[in-house]
Amino acid sequence: MVVQQQIASTTCPFCGVGCRLDLHINGNQISHATTPYDDIVSKGNLCVKGRFGWDFIYHPDRVLKPLIRKDVGAMPRARPPSDARPPSLPRKPARRDDWRAASWDEALDLVTTRFADIVARFGPDATAVFCCAKATNEDNFALQKLFRAVIGTNNIDHCTRLCHAGSVVALQMAIGSSAMSNSGSDIYDCDVAIITGSNTAESHPIIALQFKDAAMHHGTKLIVADPRRVEMVNFATLWLQQRPGTDVPLFSAMANVIIQERLCNDEFIRQRTENFETFAKAMEEFTPDVAERISGVPAEKIIEAARMYATAKNGAIYWALGIPEHTHGTENALALVHLALLTGHIGRKGTGLNPLRGQNNVQGASDAGAMPWDFPGYQKVDDPEVVAKFRAKWGNAPPPKRGLTTTEIAEAWGAGAVKAQYIMGENPLMSEPNLHHAHHAIENLEFLVCQDMFINETGRYADVILPSASFAEKEGTYTNTDRRVQRVRKAFESIGDVRADWEIISDVALRLEKKLGRERTAYWGYEHPSEIMAEMAELVPAYAGITYERLETERLQWPVSSLQSPGTPFLFAESFPRGRAKFFPLVYQPSVEEPDAEYPYALTTGRVLYHWHGGTLTRHSNLDFAAPEAFVEINPADAPRVPCENDSPVRVSSRRGSVVLRARVTEKAAPGVAFVPFHYAEAAANTLTIDAIDPQAKIPEYKICAVKIEPATLQDLEATMPLGMMER
Ligand code: SF4
Repeated sequence: MVVQQQIASTTCPFCGVGCRLDLHINGNQISHATTPYDDIVSKGNLCVKGRFGWDFIYHPDRVLKPLIRKDVGAMPRARPPSDARPPSLPRKPARRDDWRAASWDEALDLVTTRFADIVARFGPDATAVFCCAKATNEDNFALQKLFRAVIGTNNIDHCTRLCHAGSVVALQMAIGSSAMSNSGSDIYDCDVAIITGSNTAESHPIIALQFKDAAMHHGTKLIVADPRRVEMVNFATLWLQQRPGTDVPLFSAMANVIIQERLCNDEFIRQRTENFETFAKAMEEFTPDVAERISGVPAEKIIEAARMYATAKNGAIYWALGIPEHTHGTENALALVHLALLTGHIGRKGTGLNPLRGQNNVQGASDAGAMPWDFPGYQKVDDPEVVAKFRAKWGNAPPPKRGLTTTEIAEAWGAGAVKAQYIMGENPLMSEPNLHHAHHAIENLEFLVCQDMFINETGRYADVILPSASFAEKEGTYTNTDRRVQRVRKAFESIGDVRADWEIISDVALRLEKKLGRERTAYWGYEHPSEIMAEMAELVPAYAGITYERLETERLQWPVSSLQSPGTPFLFAESFPRGRAKFFPLVYQPSVEEPDAEYPYALTTGRVLYHWHGGTLTRHSNLDFAAPEAFVEINPADAPRVPCENDSPVRVSSRRGSVVLRARVTEKAAPGVAFVPFHYAEAAANTLTIDAIDPQAKIPEYKICAVKIEPATLQDLEATMPLGMMER
């Protein structure tokens, strides 16, 4: 019998590049994945994740029915009259046989009964939700609407807080818009690009291919600023190897050179910016010599980089998490913004300020309002006029005050202020800093529901697991790092009893409205996600012209202001959303925890090519065979100090915890700097990281803390298992 093969044209579910993925289907089985040569994003290439990583869909660990913990009922567990959970009743991670399968009706009834009870006893702000940067725009729009319109809280956030929050706040302060101004492929129109805090080749591989091609064949000069010898260094004209945490002095010294050598674009500064004089005064102290002493980058290299960027016809800046994930992440990003404002390298093709977004839909989840300070479309929750607008549409909206951020919500678990938590697809017990602290905090929750494909480290603490459809089993849209809204298409019928996230949420909303005695005003009768997109387009001006019909033939980059608008490939040609862009004087602040005699290495964390974030998906795929084990990179000069050799087990410890993993002795790590990838639960990097946060953006300092490294044994290595797995 000849099986008819079909192709479902969808979007890659991994990184923010957003390559088109053509899934070749036999029945319910994907046979392979390709991308067309004329695809505007992928240009015919897929990285290993897009090509082979989708087989997590068929993994036997996938949850295919709703699950309820056996000791959970409709009423809270026995507790004393005070509301504090007694010490004898902490939530513990569940073992496999602690769960029982349930019907959707029973599971959703339990979820809504417990949420209604907690709202009735403690008010809406005793609940919180983590939306999901891997889910669609429609899923995220529906989930934030559930919590705002039905429950009435702004305690809504997602992993953007843990990656680019510093970039978002800085860009909002300086120009009034936080998305990438240009596209990755603009590199071909760029003479000089600064790439910083970005291991582009492993985190955004297809954009990296274009960077390499532009550098090798099209004359683009790359300035790579990174403490690690990442792969992009091989293609760079200039490598600035700064010490971790010294970005402000490094980039401010470049600003100093541009001002001192009169390389500024005076007309641009005069016509389109404000506060230049005050800023220029503050930059005087950041001479190249001062920056060399702090950052370790030779002064002459700083001067050369400043001249190269300032005198380019088109200069662009691309950055990733190495910039915002600091206690001064907002200032780091501002230091980059200043370079573009000084030179006028913005508002044209081949220029711009470009924070490369990590997950496939972190841009879209933010656009859809999955944030505590913003309704959909970055409309401020504390603006009474905005609140009135959403109340008019939905019948209900929270009072005009900001909600808690991801890190504040985790604190509120421990303090007992947040008692019921809803999590769609995220895994805070891998992504929060200082994981031991987060594990203790989550034990204090009264009720936890996880909506996911797998039971991850956080799911083990859940009362109810709601099984969700994969990207290949549902319709929707993602918005990639270039602001490009792209279709996600159902390739085959769902496996088991799973449902699309937006369907689950709509069902929860209808039941919860009833249990809370709310009069039904918000619409929840969606039959297709295109209806959710239509509602989003009505409320979000940048999405006003986006429809599913148009997305059949167009790959629109927002803002798309009307049905006639072709979208906007680059921003700020004429003006900035805040009017004039603003310079901010900066001062250098050292990182919270610098290496010392007891903890002599600076730890930095990041990604590897084969895995994605907390590993929930990629560690359930064949990719795990290619990269099965955690490691710590250390410089050959440091290995004798441990002492250790390549591949030998070592224990890495900070003031918060320790992990055992294998040493990888490599020149990629700078002397005195260690690198640990954050995908491996059995050696979770965030056991080590510090929970100090940027006061403005509330983003934790993942990119530097102090650690020590000691020899360990193979027995130590074999004994490691993830936090929360101890009782399995
Ligand atoms: Fe998918 Fe990103 Fe790889 Fe493209 S670069 S195939 S979007 S993981």
